[in-house]
Amino acid sequence: MTAENIPKATAKRLPIYYRYLNILHDTGKQRISSTELAEAVQVDSATIRRDFSYFGALGKRGYGYDVDSLLNFFKQILNQEHLTNVALIGVGNLGHALLNFNFHKDSNVRISAAFDTNQDIVNTVEDGVPVYPISQLADQLREQQIQVVILTVPSSAAQEVAADAVAGGVKGILNFTPIRLSVPDKVLVQNVDLTNELQTLIYFIDNFSN
Ligand code: ATP
Repeated sequence: MTAENIPKATAKRLPIYYRYLNILHDTGKQRISSTELAEAVQVDSATIRRDFSYFGALGKRGYGYDVDSLLNFFKQILNQEHLTNVALIGVGNLGHALLNFNFHKDSNVRISAAFDTNQDIVNTVEDGVPVYPISQLADQLREQQIQVVILTVPSSAAQEVAADAVAGGVKGILNFTPIRLSVPDKVLVQNVDLTNELQTLIYFIDNFSN
């Protein structure tokens, strides 16, 4: 099975499964049932079983799924894509942290351009990444064929910046702002709520950790 053979709806859920399996792995859990997973990722268990059957992971009655082998499988599928250039918009505290964060190591992603309004950093190189003025967003995204952006601007700027990014042809937005962005259906938005993530992790530790 390759990434191309997997139905789109299933492929979209893959990163969600992958993320939670990583959390399980880190907390030392070795297997999980589709019912437990369903509760954690908010996808119904029949859908999970069908999704996993595309990966050839059928699970065993009374045992569930083996966390490590699922993780390895997802890693392979997610790495089949080529290196993806990503832009970061808003080089504040969080933006800086993400620029410093080494996506390279274990993934096919790297931040190749950044955008900001702050004249002190525009047209400089921050953490190895060139910072362009926000006025050039749509043009640069198109020119550099960047299809994914990370949004770390203040909430007040989020919608406007997202619209510019869409005008520049992006297909996906990783949204770190609490704003629910309004974008065309064809553009995927993945919301990252760090508070929520932490609470999920604590839930797992409280319930599954040995
Ligand atoms: P963080 O929220 O990441 O902790 P911060 O508190 O340092 O960051 P914010 O005010 O949240 O700063 O702004 C984040 C970054 O977004 C700053 O570098 C700011 O210059 C930039 N920014 C603000 N408005 C825009 C905009 N419209 N377009 C692009 N960048 C912007």
